[in-house]
Amino acid sequence: MDAKKQLNSIIEGKREIFIEAADRIWGTPETRFATKESVKEYHRILEAEGFELEKGVANMEHSFVATYGSGKPVIGILAEYDALGNLSQVADLAEQQPIEAGGNGHGCGHNLLGTGALTGAVGIKELIKQNDIQGTIKLFGCPAEESGYGKAFMARDGIFDGIDVALAWHPMDQTAAWGDSSLAVYQIYYNFKGIAAHAAAAPEHGRSALDAAELMNVGVQFLREHIIDEARVHYAFMDVGGESANVVQPTSSLYYFIRAPKLEQAEAVYKRVNKIAEGAALMTETELEIVFDSACANYIPNQALTTAMYENLKEITPMELTEEEVAYEQKYFDTVPDATKAALYQRAKSAFPELTEEEVKEVATMPLNTKLFPLTFSDRTIGSTDVGDVSWIVPTAQVVIGCEPQGTPPHSWQWVANGKSSVAHKGLLSAGKAIAMTAYDILTNPELLAQAQAEHASVLNGQKFKSAIPADVKPR
Ligand SMILES: [Zn+2]
Repeated sequence: MDAKKQLNSIIEGKREIFIEAADRIWGTPETRFATKESVKEYHRILEAEGFELEKGVANMEHSFVATYGSGKPVIGILAEYDALGNLSQVADLAEQQPIEAGGNGHGCGHNLLGTGALTGAVGIKELIKQNDIQGTIKLFGCPAEESGYGKAFMARDGIFDGIDVALAWHPMDQTAAWGDSSLAVYQIYYNFKGIAAHAAAAPEHGRSALDAAELMNVGVQFLREHIIDEARVHYAFMDVGGESANVVQPTSSLYYFIRAPKLEQAEAVYKRVNKIAEGAALMTETELEIVFDSACANYIPNQALTTAMYENLKEITPMELTEEEVAYEQKYFDTVPDATKAALYQRAKSAFPELTEEEVKEVATMPLNTKLFPLTFSDRTIGSTDVGDVSWIVPTAQVVIGCEPQGTPPHSWQWVANGKSSVAHKGLLSAGKAIAMTAYDILTNPELLAQAQAEHASVLNGQKFKSAIPADVKPR
């Protein structure tokens, strides 16, 4: 049997294992580094499948590295399983209704992302075993993708050293190879401490931490004119001191995200923001504490590897849907605002210039977009991802699989509601196949690996990966 057909039947034969794990993780949504229940699903399956398991790497209790096989090449596959706060949502319901008010939910589809990566790892492992292929598979269990950046800590601590390539995927509302970059980011807490006082009787005795935070924000607004256009600086108040207006507030805390296309650009802005925070403390006679939360690098797509992964996507797309599944996705598509639907039309029109007007409309109004988008590479950036750090260490490729309702964004209640559907399950299995097939290409085609590595070296042009997270900062 053709090896890729064999992979398909291996994965289909074990499909219920992966689907059940994805659904259970959906049911125990956990955020950041606290992914205690979710990670157990991986431990159980990986041990049963004969992987050697190292738990709790890089000072993160719920991270892991699962290894199978021996010798070169060593293929890294990246799994995520963290959820988001305040996104609790009843499954299969096309209106926003939390299961638990304020609870967590899998709004970024990481219950699928991680189990899709697991599917890929188990699939290629089984092929290695059955066909006696040389090479090593490492599945990395990476907590806190959403915020905190588990992979960035793992990268800093050398956990990815020794692998030759990394493969990943993400659920999306379209199917494509990931040929864009991402923004590097610094995440920092600025905590001010002042002196409380009665705001009317003895204001001269008070030193307001809230004033310091406000002055810092004003300073940063002025800074915006003097940083590169592509930089993004945003903040949240974590502490405003209190709710009484007649008290000089003794504490305040701001959480800043500082982003730019390149890590050194983000670092330059970060250093200036620190000076503004110091200035605000000086003006208000308050104490400043700068707490480094996390940081991650920009993403560098490896074109050779991404192209190989894209070729495999061609083999497994379009995803076939039943009439019931199309109707199921339609109910979510009906919740998409008109302005977004107009943008979907533009997206389809620019991606498929060869299509007629009618055909473009058809693509743009599919409740689940199953059409494979063309392969493109660009410096375009949207958000940030800790896959960025990995991509600096080894050639990295990712794809997105359309298994979320068209026009609905990541971090939405629609993604949570859709997260246990048969369409979502098909998405994770497709992703697993794409990953396993690409792993097979790398294992059996030394030229592909050599090409990917040469490209990586040429893009980095002598630069070495340097983590932006200081050595003494621990995941928190
Ligand atoms: Zn995500």
